[in-house]
Amino acid sequence: MDVTLALDIGGTKIAAGLVDSDGTLVHQAKLSTPDGDAEAVWTVVDTLVTEALTEAGGRVRGVGIASAGPIDLPAGTVSPINITEWQRFPIVERVSALTGAPVRLGGDGLCMALGERWRGAGCGAPFLLGMVVSTGVGGGLVLDGAPYDGRTGNAGHVGHVVVDPDGGPCSCGGRGCVETIAAGPRMAQWAHDHGWEATAEADAKELADAANAGVEVALQAFRRGATAVAAMIASVGAVCDLDLVVVGGGVAKSGALLFDPLREALATYAGWTSCVGCGCCPPSSAATQAWSARPLSSIPEKDCAPYAFGPNRTDPAVQEPASCRTPKSSSAHTEGRCLRRRE
Ligand SMILES: [Zn+2]
Repeated sequence: MDVTLALDIGGTKIAAGLVDSDGTLVHQAKLSTPDGDAEAVWTVVDTLVTEALTEAGGRVRGVGIASAGPIDLPAGTVSPINITEWQRFPIVERVSALTGAPVRLGGDGLCMALGERWRGAGCGAPFLLGMVVSTGVGGGLVLDGAPYDGRTGNAGHVGHVVVDPDGGPCSCGGRGCVETIAAGPRMAQWAHDHGWEATAEADAKELADAANAGVEVALQAFRRGATAVAAMIASVGAVCDLDLVVVGGGVAKSGALLFDPLREALATYAGWTSCVGCGCCPPSSAATQAWSARPLSSIPEKDCAPYAFGPNRTDPAVQEPASCRTPKSSSAHTEGRCLRRRE
């Protein structure tokens, strides 16, 4: 079977899948990320990989790993903030030894961006920011059709763009990052602190329910989060001259609650230097379905396949698969999917 093994490593779940050359997920499995030592976490990866190899008849053409960050691409190691047991864990070496196949590592945000570009709402966009607003805020950049890793593989971690210089501390060690305002738990916390009458455990989903029911402080929390995201997008747009931003993740699933104020704030923040012609879209419905099905977001999985195994990163066959030839200015980005587009 000509399949790629895709791994998705996160602080809550670890998932594995087999993806064929068309990007179809033909096998998937997931397990919770355990507490314990580094080897306990590795045992989960080992179990999932071994099962997938059996499913694939013992052989895969390669492995793509999408990992929560930070990662160290040159070293092939990962130190996810939410997997404290793994500090510079040699994931590439371990998976190579286990599978005997070539292995490529990428940040999960970059893999999401690549997946959206390959099979999702970012199809064909040469300059794309793919991002998630969820328990954290993450993302990745495709620039001029190629994934942009940066020096260590952590480029595009847009959740740590500073949008409030006087803001509070962030999990990254910095302050005032967009994640400290727009991440789901942070929005819920802000609402609690400002009089939201809900249990201490109430999360962003319940916050969305409250906002949809017209609770003003919940609506304010969404507006505040969306405004921070818009400021970040405008800033990234100023640097990268983007075509498109695809916004996914659990908080983004609240739809208009996030996207309406986001669109409004972008109109304020995005001057001519940023987002000229830039659309801001939710992921494609197919990708969203696959994603909400999470185990393995099939977005990173699918994406890691071409990313991992292209002869090189600018190989047109890899960057522009036959099913994805939407030109830069195609109406595909304006037919009901783009929530904002400046012409
Ligand atoms: Zn940060």
